Amino acid sequence: MQTNILGYPRIGSNRELKKANEAYWAGKISLEKLQLTARQLRRQNWETLHNAGIDLIPSNDFSYYDQILDMCIMTGTIPSRFKALMESLVTPGSPELYFAMARGYQKNGFDATAMEMTKWFDTNYHYLVPEFDSSQKYRLLYNKCLEEFKEALSLGIHTKPVLIGPVSFLLLGKIKDEELQGADLLEQLLPVYITLLQSLQAAGATWVQLDEPTLVLDLTPAQQELFHYAYTQIREAVPALKVLLTTYFGGLQDNTPLAVQLPVDALHIDLVRAPEQLDTILASLPDTLQLSVGVVNGRNIWKNNYEKSLQLVHKAIAALGEERVLIASSCSLLHTPYDLDLETDETVLTPQIKNWMAFAKQKVHEVIALRDIIAGNKDLLKANQATIQEKSTAAIIHKPAVKARLAALTAADAERKNAFPIRQKAQEAVLQLPLFPTTTIGSFPQTEDIRKLRADFKKGVITSQEYDAAIRKAIQDSVQLQETLRIDVLVHGEFERNDMVEYFGEQLEGFVFTKNGWVQSYGSRCVKPPVIYGDVQRSAPMTVEWSSYAQSLTDKPMKGMLTGPVTILQWSFVRDDQPRADTTLQIALAIRDEVVDLEKAGIRVIQVDEPAIREGLPLREADWQSYLDWAVKAFRVSVSGVEDATQIHTHMCYAEFNDIISNIAAMDADVITIETSRSQMELLEVFSTFRYPYEIGPGVYDIHSPRVPTVAEMTALLEKATQLLPARNIWVNPDCGLKTRKWPETEQALRNMVAAARNMRMAVNATV
Ligand code: GLN
Ligand code: ZN
Repeated sequence: MQTNILGYPRIGSNRELKKANEAYWAGKISLEKLQLTARQLRRQNWETLHNAGIDLIPSNDFSYYDQILDMCIMTGTIPSRFKALMESLVTPGSPELYFAMARGYQKNGFDATAMEMTKWFDTNYHYLVPEFDSSQKYRLLYNKCLEEFKEALSLGIHTKPVLIGPVSFLLLGKIKDEELQGADLLEQLLPVYITLLQSLQAAGATWVQLDEPTLVLDLTPAQQELFHYAYTQIREAVPALKVLLTTYFGGLQDNTPLAVQLPVDALHIDLVRAPEQLDTILASLPDTLQLSVGVVNGRNIWKNNYEKSLQLVHKAIAALGEERVLIASSCSLLHTPYDLDLETDETVLTPQIKNWMAFAKQKVHEVIALRDIIAGNKDLLKANQATIQEKSTAAIIHKPAVKARLAALTAADAERKNAFPIRQKAQEAVLQLPLFPTTTIGSFPQTEDIRKLRADFKKGVITSQEYDAAIRKAIQDSVQLQETLRIDVLVHGEFERNDMVEYFGEQLEGFVFTKNGWVQSYGSRCVKPPVIYGDVQRSAPMTVEWSSYAQSLTDKPMKGMLTGPVTILQWSFVRDDQPRADTTLQIALAIRDEVVDLEKAGIRVIQVDEPAIREGLPLREADWQSYLDWAVKAFRVSVSGVEDATQIHTHMCYAEFNDIISNIAAMDADVITIETSRSQMELLEVFSTFRYPYEIGPGVYDIHSPRVPTVAEMTALLEKATQLLPARNIWVNPDCGLKTRKWPETEQALRNMVAAARNMRMAVNATV
């Protein structure tokens, strides 16, 4: 039986690619040096997979920045604003053009903004969105795929080139001209794909992997038709090349008849995310197709449960025979960290927890182990069963008190004492805020000094007294500034936080961190998500001391600042032995305790950030509501333990929630702050049809840019907002936290923001 890996992480075991890219961008290393690093990384990956004994080893899964950007360059999908730059360059597919498209370009008289970036399905990886317009002439600009195939071959390794399939490439992009139809575009793109595939066939490739993950999404009949067209053409053009069509991140569902009918040689399905699809697929798979069964999870860091995986593989073998089944990772391993063996610090990751985990390299061996168990090696299975068994009862995971509390949760726990209109009155009486109250989203500039302070404390270079004193000083300065600026609801500034999820993860039970568990987020940016391994609870207050201290410095309300349960879940590696909803509710209960403690300490305004609630939406619309139900419930559980007079805020970094607005309202937050300035308040359109009953702070300035907005600009935005929302409900705040900004621009922008709020108040007073 054959084994198959869909893709491997490319950043290097020590983030070598990140470092080399950044050094190259800064002009510190030559292009040759960067290319050398890339070649070494590719070689290491191929050798790892080859030495492990994998049959279908991916190539062209390497990318300097992003695999979709690679495809844009390969096919000549160059947005028109880069054409002049392209023409000025000598080599096609030059790194200059490539990085310009990724990062924008402002040099030598050229000025072009970067391509748009968006989330890759429901992962935390971001890809660059292809831009199609009718002026583009598609052609094979640069055959990266062939070059890497040959490079591996010269090392004695026969690989399976991987490409984003033509239909997904098209569907994931943006068509810039209205008159351009998907079908016409495909007709223009396909010849390039075919030239490319023919070059692979000529070079001796046996397999090619075409990724079509859009097959797990809701597709229109017209979109489905594109698949027929593309794959029929491909089949005719490269009859000798075996095509492996991959789908992942979900089940094929209604696209099953379509997928199994495509004239390809093998179909890959994700049985981690959608194990239930196996029966239907087996029943409908034509004799001509092989099936690649994705049973080793490419999305998390847990050891595979061999017994469970084997049930699926055996079922496939029973129906198809061993020759037609490939054992595979569920998706590319891009979304997992490199190598668990590098986690050697037992004070960070205890041997017990480490024994439950598997990173990319370990997952490769799991795929091999599954094959070997089927071939008769029962010891491998026994060892795995022992680990799974130990984990299922481990005392550090399973805490009866947490489970009991979750079981005892009632509907009342997700309800404030009274409805919003009553709460609003109670809050007005206590807070005494003016109309158009001003506030900020939480963080203030994270200066070099602040970062160094935290790093020194972590390293033990300074004592906890020294650290506390310095943080207090930063809070004092920020409170003083906010008072001078006459902001109404203050924040302490989040100087003690490195990251809004990590900060809480480090203090909650049930979380663990790795030293080197990096995964690529976009380009050279990597993240190291916390790992939720067990029942979550709070052993002590997490933020009360800093918030109380900050409140003690002012008579104005000081806003307590917490991260919400859905965001904590969404940005972590999550345990796979219970539903995500249960894990989220456990976190919600821990946050609830903190909210209640903040109230007890005299904090009257508490913000629970949920910037990730929308990105957690399932890929298929039919699954949205059940997700939203538990996500909204978790938020409500976390904030419902307080009195009417305590004002609950939430914050989200987007306003594109027209489609889920009723669920946002169902969160029942007294105040919501959202991002709206970049769209000039256009995103508020939804409020003209949906009567949102709560208070709302539509961001009046973009925090992504150092530019200081004028008073007039912000006043104009607020005026727009008053056309869509009752003045009484409007707050005045920036789009998001200010941690990436510098102090001087922050101070000036806030000064202008307060002035804009005053203008609005005066205008209202003048009319009454
Ligand atoms: N309170 C956080 C901050 O101000 C919110 C960040 C976010 O929404 N991503 O930084
Ligand atoms: Zn935000």
